[in-house]
Amino acid sequence: MPELPEVETIRRQLAPLVEGHTLVNVEILDPRWSRPLAPSEMEDALEGRRVRRLGRRGKYLVWSLSGDVHLAQHLRMTGTVLYQADPEPAHVRVRIGLSRKRRLVIVDPRRFGTGELLLGGEALERFFEQRLGLEPLEDRFTVEHLLALARGRTAPIKAFVLDQRRIAGVGNIYADEALHRARIHPLAPAGKLSLEQWERLREALIWALQAGIEARGATIDDFRHVDGVWGSFQDRFQVHRRAGEPCSTCGTQVVKIRAAGRGTYVCESCQARPRAGRVKPRAARPSGRSAGR
Ligand SMILES: [Zn+2]
Repeated sequence: MPELPEVETIRRQLAPLVEGHTLVNVEILDPRWSRPLAPSEMEDALEGRRVRRLGRRGKYLVWSLSGDVHLAQHLRMTGTVLYQADPEPAHVRVRIGLSRKRRLVIVDPRRFGTGELLLGGEALERFFEQRLGLEPLEDRFTVEHLLALARGRTAPIKAFVLDQRRIAGVGNIYADEALHRARIHPLAPAGKLSLEQWERLREALIWALQAGIEARGATIDDFRHVDGVWGSFQDRFQVHRRAGEPCSTCGTQVVKIRAAGRGTYVCESCQARPRAGRVKPRAARPSGRSAGR
């Protein structure tokens, strides 16, 4: 699934090609894409509008159009946007014709991608407020905010990091890479991380996402650039999809476990498993041995 770096890669490539151009015609071939709007309703709402800005929030591409109309586009599992694709590839869901004969297609073999129409800046703001938490490459992504969000949470840190309502844009790849870099086990309870661990994790998340953007994303499924080229961050994975290979830091074999319902890759030497007493904080401890009073 495209995560923040993949969506940001598309945005950076696409923005100079579409900003200032008019959506001359929009053809939605798959009604699932525009639901709950019928394709014709969505087409009518978009056609004739100029693209003022192509932005991003979490894993959404945000098309801000003239007349304060916005389109929040999510690529989900296998969505891609291709520019001037010739010949037209299979699995086209949406065709967009722009001024000066520029053409875009939204390709999506598994058809989970969506476009959501939002009328007015306030509606756009509300839409994201309900769905997305901290934007990890912005100033508000501080250790203080993360600690406050995690307070009392017993869910594994991996689940916390993947929860878009807490941190926006991080998915399975960048969560695994960041946790490895921060030397934190994916099953460690989020509410039990120390201040120092949060500092490491915050830095590691920013590092992983920025490295992903620099490598122009990772291609493990269908992600491609707008010109069809693949990203290269997969060549730099330290643990993700590397089960059985030696950890680049310590040489221990990387293993695949299950965390937050996802296949998760970890070096259990660099990332020590949480002790039983930490997984179940209510378990009775031998008296007199509690650390620090
Ligand atoms: Zn290691």
